[in-house]
Amino acid sequence: MKASIITIGDELLIGQTIDTNSAWMGAELSALGFDVTKIISIHDRRDDILNALHETVTNNNVVLITGGLGPTSDDITKQTLCEYFNTKLIISSRVLEMITQMLSARNFPLNENNRRQAEVPENCRILENATGTAPGMWFEKSNTVFVSMPGVPYEMKHIMSEHVLPELKRRYTSQTIIHRNIMTYGTSEARLAELLNEFEKEIPQNIKLAYLPSWGIIKLRLTATGDNKERVINDVDIQVKKLHKYIHEFIYAENEVSLEECIGMLLKHNNKTICTAESCTGGEIAHLITTIPGSSSWYKGSVVAYSNDIKTKILNVSATEIEQNGAVSEQVVKSMAQGALKIFGTDYAIATSGIAGPDGGTENKPVGTVWTAIAWNDGVYAEKRNFGNERQSNIRRFSLNALNLLRKQILGI
Ligand code: AMP
Ligand code: MG
Repeated sequence: MKASIITIGDELLIGQTIDTNSAWMGAELSALGFDVTKIISIHDRRDDILNALHETVTNNNVVLITGGLGPTSDDITKQTLCEYFNTKLIISSRVLEMITQMLSARNFPLNENNRRQAEVPENCRILENATGTAPGMWFEKSNTVFVSMPGVPYEMKHIMSEHVLPELKRRYTSQTIIHRNIMTYGTSEARLAELLNEFEKEIPQNIKLAYLPSWGIIKLRLTATGDNKERVINDVDIQVKKLHKYIHEFIYAENEVSLEECIGMLLKHNNKTICTAESCTGGEIAHLITTIPGSSSWYKGSVVAYSNDIKTKILNVSATEIEQNGAVSEQVVKSMAQGALKIFGTDYAIATSGIAGPDGGTENKPVGTVWTAIAWNDGVYAEKRNFGNERQSNIRRFSLNALNLLRKQILGI
């Protein structure tokens, strides 16, 4: 089973937009067992689109296309598809009705451009798009399926998940495919791969392991295939157990959850509350936590104590302590956490103080240094870590590190 991907849009070729659609679609197709042989990015140009279609029609069972479906004149994918599939545009009353409803819900009038979005090639199958105005379109030619979707990533993902992937699965895979995501934190991809060297050598043929890293969190995805569903589930369960043998200390969840979701579940389960006192993370921890629905039942709030003045005035850190040790120190971060614990009256408090960069580093405290403290009723613990040089990445890494420290404290590990 072979597949190719064509992404259309001038913005992709001039470096304005990163082609994240291909990466996502490639991963989904591979997970279904497709061999993705080619990814092509091209301009919104008739000849280039026709060439790409000619090139992919042979040797592929499936060709996924995104981009160029907007209502404006620079988007020409639809007309070009009509030319290639030898058909013409017709107004789809179903699509027109959906667009009208969507616009009236937002109090926008229907204009000529919107009406044009209801035009679809006569011989395609329409894939409804509940998230936007351009529908997906399914064509077949010479035993190859072509699916054209909007370039907007969330619209593409919606059409893929609702229509395309289920249909491809039905048509092309008779096998059971099971994915399991194991979430790890606290080590590098290279180190994990080293620890899993033996594991990978012994992994059965019907199971594949993928490393998916981002911001210090590495998701390990096990994909198992086979004819017998129960056996496939059992096979993958055995491998998950085995993973624990090699990397137990780094695993924080056995399904796809973020660290903030993970601590949310722990706090809720234990009926505990937290607050934060953030210096170098500037509210990032609060932001991550408050993206979790229902976090108000376990999260009370934050003091973003960026200046020393606020650390002393609000969090009650002694000025002498700051003067003697510097703001990025064990003593100060512990006092920050204890100060927050008092103000918010929670069971735990998290505090951070570090140097996100690019300036402000010294020989003893280089950029990337962070002190993190966790305080609770009768104790406080702090830890120093060193991360990289890049500010944005440091802020996220400091925050995840703090969440992980809290997780370990709650679990007593
Ligand atoms: P379009 O369907 O061509 O009107 O695309 C709408 C928007 O989706 C573009 O302005 C881009 O921001 C985004 N987009 C298009 N193609 C891609 C892609 N391959 N990867 C990520 N974003 C994309
Ligand atoms: Mg475009």
